[in-house]
Amino acid sequence: MSAKTPTEVFGENVFSDAVMRERLPKAVYASLRRTIDHRQPLDPTAADVVATAMKDWAIAKGATHFTHIFYPLTGLTAEKHDSFLKPDGHGRAIAAFSGDMLIQSEPDASSFPSGGLRSTFEARGYTAWDVTSPAYVLQAPHGTVLCIPSVFISWSGEALDKKTPLLRSLVALDAQARRVLDFFGTRTSLPVLSSVGPEQEYFLIDRKYALARPDLLVAGRTLFGAKPAKGQEFEDQYFGAIPARVLEFMSDVDEELCRLGVPVKTRHNEVAPSQYEIAPIHEAANPATDHNQLVMQILKSVAERHDLFCILHEKPFAGINGSGKHLNYSIGNKELGSLFEPGETPEKNAQFLIFCAAAIRAMHKYGGLLRSTVASASNDHRLGANEAPPAIMSVYLGDQLSDILERIATGGAGKSKTKKTMHIGVDTLPDLSRDPGDRNRTSPFAFTGNRFEFRAVGSSMSIAGPQVALNTMMADSLDCLASALEAAMKGKPATPENRNAAVQSVLRDILGKHGAVVFNGDGYADAWKEEAARRGLPNLVNTPDALPILESPEVMDLFTRYGVFDKAELLSRQDIYLEQYSKTIRTEAKLVISMARTLILPAALKYQDRLSSGAAARAAAPGSYRARLAGELEEQINALALAVDSLERLLEEESADALSEARRLCAAALPLMDEARSHADALECRVSAELWPLPGYQEMLFIK
Ligand code: ADP
Ligand code: MG
Repeated sequence: MSAKTPTEVFGENVFSDAVMRERLPKAVYASLRRTIDHRQPLDPTAADVVATAMKDWAIAKGATHFTHIFYPLTGLTAEKHDSFLKPDGHGRAIAAFSGDMLIQSEPDASSFPSGGLRSTFEARGYTAWDVTSPAYVLQAPHGTVLCIPSVFISWSGEALDKKTPLLRSLVALDAQARRVLDFFGTRTSLPVLSSVGPEQEYFLIDRKYALARPDLLVAGRTLFGAKPAKGQEFEDQYFGAIPARVLEFMSDVDEELCRLGVPVKTRHNEVAPSQYEIAPIHEAANPATDHNQLVMQILKSVAERHDLFCILHEKPFAGINGSGKHLNYSIGNKELGSLFEPGETPEKNAQFLIFCAAAIRAMHKYGGLLRSTVASASNDHRLGANEAPPAIMSVYLGDQLSDILERIATGGAGKSKTKKTMHIGVDTLPDLSRDPGDRNRTSPFAFTGNRFEFRAVGSSMSIAGPQVALNTMMADSLDCLASALEAAMKGKPATPENRNAAVQSVLRDILGKHGAVVFNGDGYADAWKEEAARRGLPNLVNTPDALPILESPEVMDLFTRYGVFDKAELLSRQDIYLEQYSKTIRTEAKLVISMARTLILPAALKYQDRLSSGAAARAAAPGSYRARLAGELEEQINALALAVDSLERLLEEESADALSEARRLCAAALPLMDEARSHADALECRVSAELWPLPGYQEMLFIK
């Protein structure tokens, strides 16, 4: 750790506003600012000047290379380093970095998933600088690199990445949110954006255990492992004192992230043993998304330096909670604050209620779509398993807000739960005090006072996908509500009374049509599944169920209408994610087979041999512990071998199309893997610990 204070360190490796102001000529700075703040096209003549300033700044920080950082559909971060050095023709080299190099680069795109958007023979893909996300210098012990956040598009302009659709969805959101703001006479000089704060959960174990577990190392989760005597049942871990070694790790992570301008704020123990959380202060969608990728990357790399192993997988250990990423989501900007925040005045409250109603409609119409954006083989283990929200998308509003909306919908009948007498006219709504009491952890989409918290995101996922969906769904709803409000005012003078009547009737209409998605009860209860079915809310339990929604006419129409995805781009996503799902399960299944055959069965057989050799074995009386144990071992060994054989046969086949293959693996491979595991875990509980070839849950989770 450095001796500097956090405020001195914060953003020191970012080509930040302060650095730009200091290093760029006034006119160039002003032009760049217009591009960043108002999305105006970048002035090409400014690019060379910016490039030179950026290069000089980066070299002073020790950078030797630069890279366009981009976010392919693998969900990971990709980079290709180029040296600043350029031969000067006289046997020496100069440091060169032009505006062209800053703005655009051409990595070979053929090895990134494109879902048929681009065949390998036309491998060209472009990365282009995303001016709205700041460049930074990443210092690592073995090299320092200038990183330029970029979009990644094909030769013909199709989005091959996660950033491009996010930027497009923000444009759509801005346009429609503005119409609603116009209706209320709310002005802002800045684009209306979404703002997110992702709470990142992760596990941290000693590195030596991970190195001894092929499953953890390759698949990121344990495919075998008997339950330890103690799990999380004592609830003694959540917010508990952070172990010294972990705290040291966290301090290093915080410092590195601070340098990179990531506004990390909280850190604490999570529910499961060896599980932790890190959360930054919320930021505009685009930098927040890039920053979350950095958070995941830094967690991994700092862990390595501390001889620890950071696990971002959604369900690394069976029987204890997995990891998610609560995505706190709001709409607004620096001038407006959060538009999901109840206002001080009745006008502002009416505006707030319209934005809430838009969210309700969006979730009701497109809940299935949102669910599909968090579908993956790993997240399937969490959703609906009573540790994370169910796969049914609903909205939690809390008592106060539900009460108000309900009374608006029913035209004012009934008594207020807040015990304040209240006229239902929007102009006389009471102060909506912030609802601080939300601890309903079972809802996938919960209102928490000034934002919604989307809780179904997986810990290892990019947060881009869910935001693309949320922004576009919201754009669609705001579009619909703005049109309804405008229509209701048509031909009427713009008096407060008329405006109120319009708001009132639009709210009533939306709540009547879409109120079914509001649910304040226990999302884990079985009764909710039945109730949700009655309400017609989809319950897409696994990834092969969820992904086909991407090609439904409503979703196609939604995304194409707002220019976020064209048809081919959307279908490519479905294809890629289905393929990723099947590849993940295949990899895990292969690990199950090899670990069973080369580690677990040999250990069990060895123990069996030991039991049946020597004079003592011959003397083992029927019914003795030794005889019983021998029988149990025999039984579990055979059952494990059989399950593994069946799994192998299953992998030899492959269905013709991506969806059938995903469905087949989901229905047949996963149960066989569970079956193999149950026998292996039974063996782990019987075979001498001295012979067992894998570190157990107890060591991994409790030795810190
Ligand atoms: P809790 O643990 O109570 O859910 P935290 O303090 O951990 O709350 O904060 C959760 C996240 O929500 C943080 O990243 C925070 O910055 C973010 N957040 C707060 N207000 C907003 C908002 N208006 N829009 C988006 N995110 C927000
Ligand atoms: Mg939280």
